[in-house]
Order: sequence, then C-alpha cells, then structure tokens
Amino acid sequence: MICHECNKSEMIERHENVRYDESGLPNVVLEAVKVRQCPTCGNRLVTIPRLSELHRCIAVHLVKKIARLAPADIRFLRKSLGWSKNDFAKKMHVNIEQVYRWESDKSPKPMMIQSELLLRAFVAIGKKIENYDEQVDQLATIDDLEVSPFSMVFDNGWHEHQLVGA
Ligand SMILES: [Zn+2]
Repeated sequence: MICHECNKSEMIERHENVRYDESGLPNVVLEAVKVRQCPTCGNRLVTIPRLSELHRCIAVHLVKKIARLAPADIRFLRKSLGWSKNDFAKKMHVNIEQVYRWESDKSPKPMMIQSELLLRAFVAIGKKIENYDEQVDQLATIDDLEVSPFSMVFDNGWHEHQLVGA
C-alpha cells in the first residue's frame, strides 16, 4: 500500500501497542494493533477492528471499576449509550448544567453516588456483566482519582487484558 500523503513510499506494516486517545480516555492501550507507517513522511494509519465491540468492552471496564468515575469516564459512558448531554440530563433527572459539571475536566463536580450507580446500571443492563453488584458495593468506600492504565487486546474479539497477579 502506497502512502497517500506523499505518494512516495510503500507503507511498512507492523503491530504495536497504541494509546487510544480518540476514546477521550487518557489511559486506554490497544495491544498489538496493526499500524502502517510511511518511512518517508511518517504518516501513520492505525487499524482498529470491531470498534463497537471495543467500545462496549471499555464501557464494561469502566462500569466495573472500583474507583469513582472521572469526568472522561462519564463522557465515555454517556456516549456509549448513544446519548447527547440533553438525553443524559433527562435520563438522570437533572438539568443540563449538572451534566456539564460532571463532565468538566477543569472544574468537575463529582456525581452523587446514587447518580453514578444509575449511570453504571444503565450501561450494565445493556448486556450482562458478571460481578457487577460486588464491584459497585465497594464504591462508597473508595474515592481514588488515580488513573491506572488498562489494556484492551484483540484475540478473536476484544477483551480486557488481565495482568498476571492482578
Ligand atoms: Zn508518506
């Protein structure tokens, strides 16, 4: 495949771990996805298979996470439900300013725990998630804003890479 930026070189294909910044989340790594790079101009093409399945897999990860949801997590989950900010406000029975505050990176206002549980439940009921109840029971005691990285790997389907010993 010839690079269509410079039309000079054949793209070199390899598999790399890529940070999935397009997700809007700061900490998602896609393992060993196909990357084509032009040796002349540096143009890169990343191929991500089965995008909607990947998004579902990330949403499941977020719904099960034991720390409170960060603004980027909330945005991602809302979008994974196909909701605008307006839809979200209606579903959660809040006004839209509230949604802007929840999703604000600059001056976030954390969701009330009940609202967060409701959002997680909306995502969870889209498809059965094991251990959902056990995970969310711990929410009340954990208030950790630390961002821990997690990896998604494609192996006949997207799933979360479970680190050994984790
Ligand atoms: Zn090129």
